[in-house]
Amino acid sequence: MLSLSIREDHMADGFASPGAPLAFTPDVEAATAAMWDKVKHHVTPLEWQVHAPLIAEINRLKREKNAVILAHNYMTPEIFHGVGDFVGDSLALAREAAKCDAAVIVQAGVHFMAETSKVLAPEKRVLIPDLRAGCSLASSITGADVRLIKQRHPGIPVVTYVNTTADVKAETDICCTSANAVQVVEWAAREWGVDKVILIPDEFLARNVARQTSVKIIAWAGRCEVHERFTAQDIADMRFAWPDAEILAHPECPAEILEAADFAGSTAAMNDYVALRKPKQVVLITECSMASNVQAESPGTQFIGPCNLCPHMKRISLKNIHDALLYDQYEVTVDPSVQIRAKLAVQRMIDLPPPLVPARYDLVKAKHHVDVELI
Ligand code: SF4
Repeated sequence: MLSLSIREDHMADGFASPGAPLAFTPDVEAATAAMWDKVKHHVTPLEWQVHAPLIAEINRLKREKNAVILAHNYMTPEIFHGVGDFVGDSLALAREAAKCDAAVIVQAGVHFMAETSKVLAPEKRVLIPDLRAGCSLASSITGADVRLIKQRHPGIPVVTYVNTTADVKAETDICCTSANAVQVVEWAAREWGVDKVILIPDEFLARNVARQTSVKIIAWAGRCEVHERFTAQDIADMRFAWPDAEILAHPECPAEILEAADFAGSTAAMNDYVALRKPKQVVLITECSMASNVQAESPGTQFIGPCNLCPHMKRISLKNIHDALLYDQYEVTVDPSVQIRAKLAVQRMIDLPPPLVPARYDLVKAKHHVDVELI
């Protein structure tokens, strides 16, 4: 058997270790066999001999430190299937953060997700393996921006996408996800007794929501750098190349993409679509790793690229998750006054009855063609 090893350079006290290698031993191979079965179409046997020892060691460290790993749908398959205790979209992960009884949470995702976990579970120690794992949407707007928007639009409720910093959430009335944005916008309009709602910061999500409701939308020009890159020509090219494939798009994409797709919905809605309808071929117009992770649960479906990677999500690796646990780094904190106000906005959303099925965005049959008011 070929034996690869990874040599640890440092110990927890910062000194060079004597160098106990993490080796692909028969014990490691046996302990990770079930995970290998899920990722074997996406990871080569040679790569697995590097991943498996790290996975075994990470899972041992989790037990030792009473830690859990929250792994987002956009993590690579070896993280998602190898070490994730809870997997899903950012809201599902934040809910688990609040419910679980672990002392330490390692967020295998981006910084705003770790902040949301801290907001909902302030008593827990929340770690992110790489502090540079940001998000173009979250960094498009600040708490000060929201205060100015509210001054300009007094009396109008502010609905904020969960892909925002804790500072922004603290300034808002209620959060939403792409799975419940229409429901939350309509709830806010009813509660405030108005016909207009501020929905920030994703411009495309706001435009797509505006087509599904009679509530008028005031939007912010934030973009997801992964989903904004898709074009209608991409969809046309894919239809030509794979005429039998069903095309599923995320609502952070421009409206022209949703109009050209067969189905549009959140990552949870895409998951449900594939699990229930079992298409022979499918294209997921979203971050690339999502397809790899869903495929393990739907072996009868062929998943076809395109493959747009989120550079922020891809900063998270097995190696830096391992180091986060070993060296207790990097802690994410939220100012207590911000945490209390941000929690109110997230909790309001959680307390709404969940949609019976995650929202789908049917722009072809959309009744409302009112455009948004862009701030
Ligand atoms: S995929 Fe888009 S919204 Fe998600 S973290 Fe990356 S940049 Fe942000």
